[in-house]
Parts: sequence; C-alpha cells; structure tokens
Amino acid sequence: MSEQIKNTVANSADYQATIGIEVHLQLKTKSKVFCSCKNEFGHEANKNICPICTGHPGTLPVMNKKVVDCAILLGLATNCKITPTTSFARKHYYYPDLPKNYQITQDADPICQDGYISIELEDGSEKKIRLIRIHMEEDAGKNIHSSLGFSLVDLNRAGTPLVEIVSHPDMENAQQAKAYLMRLHSIVQYLGISDANMEEGSFRADVNISVKKKTSDKLGQRIELKNINSFKFITQAIEYETQRQIQALESGEKIYPETRQWDRKNQKTVMMRRKEGADDYRYFPEPDLPSVEIDNNWIESIRKTIPELPGEKLRRLQKVYGLPYADALILIESIPLANYFEQTGKTCKNPKSACNWILRNLLAYLNEHKVEINNTKMTPENLAELVNEIEAGSINSKVAQDVFSEMITSGKSAKEIIKEKDLGQVDSTEMLEVIANKIVNNNPDEVAKYKAGNLRLFGFFVGQAMKETGGKANPKVLNDIFTKLLK
Ligand code: ZN
Ligand code: MN
Repeated sequence: MSEQIKNTVANSADYQATIGIEVHLQLKTKSKVFCSCKNEFGHEANKNICPICTGHPGTLPVMNKKVVDCAILLGLATNCKITPTTSFARKHYYYPDLPKNYQITQDADPICQDGYISIELEDGSEKKIRLIRIHMEEDAGKNIHSSLGFSLVDLNRAGTPLVEIVSHPDMENAQQAKAYLMRLHSIVQYLGISDANMEEGSFRADVNISVKKKTSDKLGQRIELKNINSFKFITQAIEYETQRQIQALESGEKIYPETRQWDRKNQKTVMMRRKEGADDYRYFPEPDLPSVEIDNNWIESIRKTIPELPGEKLRRLQKVYGLPYADALILIESIPLANYFEQTGKTCKNPKSACNWILRNLLAYLNEHKVEINNTKMTPENLAELVNEIEAGSINSKVAQDVFSEMITSGKSAKEIIKEKDLGQVDSTEMLEVIANKIVNNNPDEVAKYKAGNLRLFGFFVGQAMKETGGKANPKVLNDIFTKLLK
C-alpha cells in the first residue's frame, strides 16, 4: 500500500464499504453446454470444437441436461427458489473469442433466485449473504496475445458450461468477502459440480465495491475488480480499493464507474477500462432454444443427492469432537482433509489432539514435501494410535515428535517404532529416583543455588534427567521426584 493511501486510514472509521460479488463457475460436465464437444482443460488449441461452439451459420444449440441438473443442485444447496420455467437470452458484444458475437445466457428468468449463503463472523455470529440469482451461460474462447505483435484465438473453452452466481451487496469488508467466497468455493466442491480451480479459471470472482460515508443513505460509485485469481489477492485488492476510494472521497475527487484489476507487483489496483452499462448488451430472448420446464419431481430427485454441506460439517465437527471453530474451519475447506480427520476420530481417544497433529505436524510435512493428503504414508489409523499411545502415557510428547517423523517417512505404526527403537516412556519411580539422586549428588553448586532461591534451576535438573534417559522419562514422575529431593 502506498504511503499516500496509508495516511487516509485515520479517517476510514467514518466510511463504510459495500461489496457484492459475481462468480463465474465452470461446470465439470463431460460435454459442453450446447454441443457434444469434450469439456476438458489443457488440450491442444482448437481441438475440442465443432460448428456449433464455433458459431457457424445454420447450426442449432442443444441444451445439455446435466448443466441444468448442476444449476438446480447448486440452487438448492444455496437456499434458492428454482424457477419453474426458465429461458435463455442473447447478450451481444463483439470479441474475437466469441465467434457468434453474442453469448447465450439468461436474463429475466434465471434458473435460481433469492437464495443465501451463511458465513460465520469473527465474533462467532452468523451472517446471511443473500443471492440475487444463479444463471446458466456459455463461456467464451480465449485470446492469446503474443509478444511478437499478433494474437491467436483458441476456441476450446467456447461453449464450456458456466453458472454465474450473483450476490446482493451484503458484505462490508474484505474478511466477509473472503469468507463468502471460500464458503461458496467449498460448497461447489462438496457438490462435485466444479473443480473450482482459481488458477485455471474455473472459479472466477468479480468484486463490486463502493464506499460511502457511514452517515449517508446513498451508496457510493461502484467499481468492479476483475480476474483476481486467489483469495489472498482478492482480500488485498478489496483492502486497497476501500482505502483508495476513501482517499478520493476525502479529497473531493470523482470516482468513475470502471473495471480495475490487481497489480500484484505494485500491490495496487489499476484501471482496465471504463464500464459498459447493461443496456449496451441489447439482451433479447434466444430464439434457438426452448424454455426449460422444471417440475417438482425433477427438483426432488436432485434434492436427494445433496451431501452434507460445509456449514453443516463445520457445526458437526465442533459439536461431535469438541474442535475449536478455527480448527474445524480449516478441516472443512478440504474434503480429503476433513475425511482424514474423521477417519482418525473413529479410533482415537482424543480427537482434539489428533486434530492438532493433523493441522500442525501433518500439514507442515505435506506442504514441505508437496505431498497430497491422499498419498501420505501415515494412515489415519496410525495417527490415532500415536495419539492413543501419548494418552496412555507410554511415550511423552517429545518422543512422540520423533515417532511421528519416523511414521510419516516409513509408514510404520507407532507401536512398531516405539518397540523397535525402545522409545517407551520410563516411568518407573525406582529407576528415575536412582538417576535423580545421581544428578543431585553430581551438581552440589546448582543444588545450593536452587535452595538459595533460584527456582528456575528446577528445569536444569529435569533436563539432566531427560538427557540421561534419552528423553524417555515420564516428566510428571520426574517432577515429583525432584520436588521431594530438593526440598
Ligand atoms: Zn462443439
Ligand atoms: Mn456472465
């Protein structure tokens, strides 16, 4: 953030940001939305195309029923009303990656309307972010601009099925926007309707943001932030843009309706273009596609397939396993991670501790070694056993760290490693007393200082005994012995 903008933060308490978000989501269907071409990412340019998705005259689009199924599923999962008769419209604009010169989309009667997604706020309360609509549409192709002074067009993506999810401007800051986007991102993955890969563009968020004085009833001028491909950059862009608009308002500058993008290198938003109005698109009904009639049977057959959703899982993990909210939130954002934890929870006597091992040690290891959780050598059952060994007092937490490292590289069980390496905790009082006595006798100076009031030396004695036992001594037993000996 530039110095200039930082300086306005002092006034920011008087202002209020209003944020609405549009997400374009690519659906993971086998074929495209209006033709039978493959819907796959990463093919050679212009491989998956036909006369329909390349807009040849005389061809007719045919609706892919699977796309309607996905849209209904998403609508139900986000508390929307499903529109019984839903139709298509043409949205006109010229761009080389759009050979028809119009996009088939929906206008007045989108398939889903009036829904909401609940997010949790920092104070633990819930907030509903209302959805205006979810509509179906086709994606455009891609222009590839060469540095040699020409551009190429790849139409593989043309006709890829999209749903666009449009929220009300119900969010007030970057944290709420991020929470909303992350929850939506989880929901579509739980539903299995999209890869939602932000880097590959299958989950694209456009953020509309305006700023007004808190005392004003009128919303400020809306700015669109486009094509930001990570949650982190979206958060940074909203924070920057809020401050930029506050500064403009403070200095009496005019804010124009425009589309801006995030300049990662310079950590600021920059203008892409001034915005078109909806009227410029000349929407009209698509004459080549009939309306889709959705009856209750269709809706109910899809409702049956809704799995447990992220919000429900979040509440259940907290309730059933006693996990803190923040930990449960990390787990639910990845289905394999949440599954791994729940698998552990089946046989683990302390699920909260298992969760700690997963979120701290296991994730750190997986990140460092770029391993997916599904490919880790440490099974959930083995991790549960490790936690149970600690609970039973057969190893202390320091030794447990070493056992963990060995488990994750070898795939062996905790019991095996403890036995092989003779790591079992030494908690025989007699044996530890012998060691403790020796240490006290060998260190008369430290004993004198301790007795003179330097109580911190207690740790020195325990440390020496730990060293003697290779870290295997039961710390509680040692504490008791030294407390008695040094009285
Ligand atoms: Zn095609
Ligand atoms: Mn759209």
